[in-house]
Amino acid sequence: MKLVRLIYFSCATRDMALSDLKEILTVARENNNQKNICGMLCYDNQHFLQVLEGDRNAVSELYLAIADDPRHDAPTLCQIEEIEQKTFEDWNMGYAGSSSLLKGWLSNHDLRAFEPEKLSATQAFELLQELSTRQVEI
Ligand code: FAD
Repeated sequence: MKLVRLIYFSCATRDMALSDLKEILTVARENNNQKNICGMLCYDNQHFLQVLEGDRNAVSELYLAIADDPRHDAPTLCQIEEIEQKTFEDWNMGYAGSSSLLKGWLSNHDLRAFEPEKLSATQAFELLQELSTRQVEI
């Protein structure tokens, strides 16, 4: 089995309510658990940033399904790389939204708003990793 990490970002087609995010996360957690995929989803400022880790075939298949979802558009691959071990193992799909942690991280990187297209792959990974340490339960 080849283990990979995939990071992408996208734009929500409309402003997401907490209930919309909950709907996505409920399905994601159930499906990802079955496929042994873990990760984090971050949503703010009508942008998504998501990391998926798991078997290469399973992650590719899932990414293609997610990319096709009409709730967002312009999905853009930020990184896909082979990994030795998972970083986000504790979460089938963790969630992070607007928070002081996110705002603090952005301001430390001279960014005014959450715009994932402005992040390098390394920054995107670092941000998701940091957010995963203080995850919101929804
Ligand atoms: P179905 O429910 O049969 O979906 C059929 C089609 O309708 C799919 O194209 C689906 O995307 C779309 N759809 C489903 N619900 C809605 C809705 N409320 N409004 C509009 N269209 C809808 N799924 C995972 O399993 N794991 C993840 O990590 C994951 N992350 C996601 C991240 C984002 C940003 C988004 C927007 C979605 C994510 N999803 C994730 C959901 C994923 O796109 C699929 O909806 C889900 O996997 C179920 O797909 P399905 O074809 O089995 O189910």
